[in-house]
Amino acid sequence: MSGDPHAATPPQHAPMRQFAVVDNCLQIGGRPLTEVARAVGRTPFYAYDRSVINDRVAALRKALPPDVHLHYAIKANPMPEVVRHLAALTDGLDVASAGELRVALDTGIAPANISFAGPGKSATDLSAALAGGVVINIESVGEMQRIAALAKASGIRPQVAIRVNPDFELKAAGMKMGSGPKPFGIDAEQVPAVLQAMASLPLDFVGFHIFGGSQNLRAQAIIDAQTKTFELAFRLSRFAPTPVRWLNIGGGLGVPYFPGEEHLDITPIATNLAALVTAAKVQLPRAEIVLELGRYLVAEAGVYVCEIVDRKVSRGETFLITNGGLHHHLAASGNFGQVVRKNYPLCLGNRVADDACEVVNVVGPLCTPLDVLGHRVVLPAGAAPGDLIVVFQSGAYGLTASPLNFLNHPYPGEILV
Ligand SMILES: *Cc1c(COP(=O)(O)O)cnc(C)c1O
Repeated sequence: MSGDPHAATPPQHAPMRQFAVVDNCLQIGGRPLTEVARAVGRTPFYAYDRSVINDRVAALRKALPPDVHLHYAIKANPMPEVVRHLAALTDGLDVASAGELRVALDTGIAPANISFAGPGKSATDLSAALAGGVVINIESVGEMQRIAALAKASGIRPQVAIRVNPDFELKAAGMKMGSGPKPFGIDAEQVPAVLQAMASLPLDFVGFHIFGGSQNLRAQAIIDAQTKTFELAFRLSRFAPTPVRWLNIGGGLGVPYFPGEEHLDITPIATNLAALVTAAKVQLPRAEIVLELGRYLVAEAGVYVCEIVDRKVSRGETFLITNGGLHHHLAASGNFGQVVRKNYPLCLGNRVADDACEVVNVVGPLCTPLDVLGHRVVLPAGAAPGDLIVVFQSGAYGLTASPLNFLNHPYPGEILV
């Protein structure tokens, strides 16, 4: 289908304004994309713009109450250079495996500012956490007993928090992580008994970790969830063996991907959080409040870039076939948690705008119909082999959330610019 260039096209995607365009070429880290591609030495690649990360953290710091500690949940983007960069900008890191723990410890930040969450921590994970001296978020009664046994055997008394599966729901979260039956955390109603059992174990209780869900774009839903999170922590603190010193309220702030989605307005969330922090000064006077964000800190700073290797027409539709796709960027193909497939925002990076446009399908090289990056998207007309397809909003849950070995193509490059 060759599109009428003058036809009114509906909005293609959420507004993208984090990268400049100079001489019709997208700029990443202040450099033309074509130059970044040469620096990487190959396509496809992921590129992350450190100034976009800096701006995001600075804007958050400005909005948030000063005594809210900002942590980075590194599973969103564990590239060591990105983690090092964020370790210097934030107050701590959150990890979900012994592998992530190594990356976090390598940054040199104080182990007390690293916390380790995740169901099914192995004996290796737990030993590494004890030896590393980080805060361990306990996800079940069995895990508490395993940590206590390791503590006895090693003589190390670890700092532990209870991850609570809340008795409320985070409305409008793209991915729910709390309420109802869940593998994450200990059900809120069981926590008083667990705290009582903990009092006789060689564990240093520091507080609670309560996380309701990911990718939320509704400020009011986040405000409600954070309010209920504090209320739940206040209620549970009455059963604590020692005063609560740490309250981790999770992450989950969303970024826009699809048509009709807008950037989250952080101001009302920050205002509400300020009131909650004030209440916590009375209810939990010794508690450090931690907001641990993944996606919100890095998603918009990243692009995935692949190169067109073929152009063909099949029964009236144009296909741009690239050297990248689902195996590198599962989320952009629509196969990482989406119910209905939608296109991530795309552009032609080396020729961003053109008077003449056309409707094309952008697909990857895999032998599966699932390998789609853009279904009937509008791009400058005549895109051809050698041109660069850019997928925006790719800085979180990209490379490491993808099945890299599927069909055994080369791995993508990765660069922090
Ligand atoms: C994944 C995760 C986060 C970060 O979630 P985002 O939605 O990326 O902000 C925070 N805390 C825990 C425990 C997580 O597992």
